[in-house]
Amino acid sequence: TAPAVETKPQYSLDTVPNMLSLRGKTIAITGGARGLGMAVAYAVVESGGHVACLDLLPAPSESEWAGLQKLCKPRNLTATYAKCDVTSEAEMEEVINAIEQNGIENGAPFYDMVACAGIQQKVPALDYNSQDFERILRVNVTGAFITAKWTARKLVEKRRPGSIVLIASMSGNIANRGLTCSAYNSSKSAVQQMCRSLAQEWGQYGIRINTLSPGYIRTDMTNQLLAAEPEVEKIWMAGALLGRLATPDEFKAPAIFLLSEGSSFMTGADLRVDGGHCASA
Ligand code: NDP
Repeated sequence: TAPAVETKPQYSLDTVPNMLSLRGKTIAITGGARGLGMAVAYAVVESGGHVACLDLLPAPSESEWAGLQKLCKPRNLTATYAKCDVTSEAEMEEVINAIEQNGIENGAPFYDMVACAGIQQKVPALDYNSQDFERILRVNVTGAFITAKWTARKLVEKRRPGSIVLIASMSGNIANRGLTCSAYNSSKSAVQQMCRSLAQEWGQYGIRINTLSPGYIRTDMTNQLLAAEPEVEKIWMAGALLGRLATPDEFKAPAIFLLSEGSSFMTGADLRVDGGHCASA
């Protein structure tokens, strides 16, 4: 397929808020039923984009979904939800075809994807069984690959440039104190490296792909770990130069930046948003 050709002016006369706008686009988010994915869904709508949330759960949390719909209404935007297991090629292909169709109907083509679905399991390496290890790799790495691949295939087919954001983790850069998890850490390093590799292949099509690597955020994922070991929270907070955990809202602007024209010359990059954790590691 012939590469998409994008001609960019050398100097943009546009304003920064316009560069960060997602107007006229549909953006999909895996793991979009809650946590970080849901926060990014709100941010997409706040930035003028239509959003398609995908997740394993049959439905998103009612109150958060109602809030998202409320945000959409006055802006004439849509938020849709579909059940999709990121480890299934068939489900991903079908869902992306449906998002493309909806995008055309809304006059807002499908351009961008945030691969946020992920799982975590804290198990000492001596007790880790290989099936559990492989399950983490399957969802976090293969799932991110399947998500990126079917997105890129659609964009190449339509000769449309786009931006793919893979949510990795600072755990891809460091072996965290208080959260030894060999499978999770391996998976997030793999996502960062896979991103660089896909960027090499897809730059010719005008498709950008970057990782966003968060530090510790208060979500169901971390709350579960902290419920089992509350003393770990102090270690996490001490590890960040800012001395605290993040809220999901603190990832809205970094995610929108990577999706938008504001980052038009970025691909194969890792944006770490970790309160300085890795700087002190
Ligand atoms: P949550 O557990 O709150 O949300 C993750 C979502 O992904 C869940 O709704 C989950 O569904 C879904 N999911 C899991 N497996 C699949 C699958 N096979 N197909 C589709 N969806 C799936 O986690 P967070 O919001 O905290 O995390 C989001 C991302 O950010 C993850 O990739 C995580 O690794 C990463 N991250 C999180 C950090 C944190 O401190 N919270 C720090 C660094 C990175 P279900 O509940 O049904 O399993």
